[in-house]
Amino acid sequence: MIIAIDGPAGAGKSTVSRLLAERLGCIRIDTGALYRAVALAATRAGFAARDVPELEAFVTALDLRVTQDAVFLNGEDVSSEIRTPEASRSASAFAAVPCVRAGLMELQRRLGRSAPSVLDGRDIGTVVFPDADAKIFLTASAEERAKRRLAELRALGLGGGLSEVLAEIEARDMQDTNRTVAPLRQAPDAVLVDATSLTLEGAVDACYAAVQRQLDQGRE
Ligand code: C5P
Repeated sequence: MIIAIDGPAGAGKSTVSRLLAERLGCIRIDTGALYRAVALAATRAGFAARDVPELEAFVTALDLRVTQDAVFLNGEDVSSEIRTPEASRSASAFAAVPCVRAGLMELQRRLGRSAPSVLDGRDIGTVVFPDADAKIFLTASAEERAKRRLAELRALGLGGGLSEVLAEIEARDMQDTNRTVAPLRQAPDAVLVDATSLTLEGAVDACYAAVQRQLDQGRE
């Protein structure tokens, strides 16, 4: 079983996906963490975010492992390092490079097929698993997403004001939506969940109900 949760930055995909996966008895695969880890590795190796053939080979050769709450890059736990605003910007820049996306495609498909999974990202329902059993597009207003992102950053001990975080989120939305390969967009058969005025539990309930409906339709 494959459940795809796509949507813009800060909509609550991570937490909602984790709780939804628990409720459904699935594993959760954070594909954003893969892009973040790749961007970190590529930056460390001196690559710029450009489409060069060596970058695809570099990405495919990386040893990337994701557990429910950690990401390992060639055996090193990089979970905290990939969560800074700088890492977000860099992930989005590398994610726009076609050979980086090509390099991560197989890994995402392999992970998704290894167990019943909830995968969250930007292009899961449109490109990685267009035949997913259920698809959600989870969004919220940019202001609300900025507030939530700010709270997450504060929890990590990172600074920044609301207007800075809002500008960051809007820039990332713009880059993710306007790139040529696998841009962020709602799949035609995805259910839209707008979490602007929902609590976390409300968002999980709405997603759960939408998934159940889609699974029931698939069984008919
Ligand atoms: O979800 P998260 O904010 O951690 O993702 C970081 C960046 O990785 C996104 O801004 C996006 O550019 C990229 N990404 C992507 N496709 C995915 C998941 C993430 O392009 N499936």
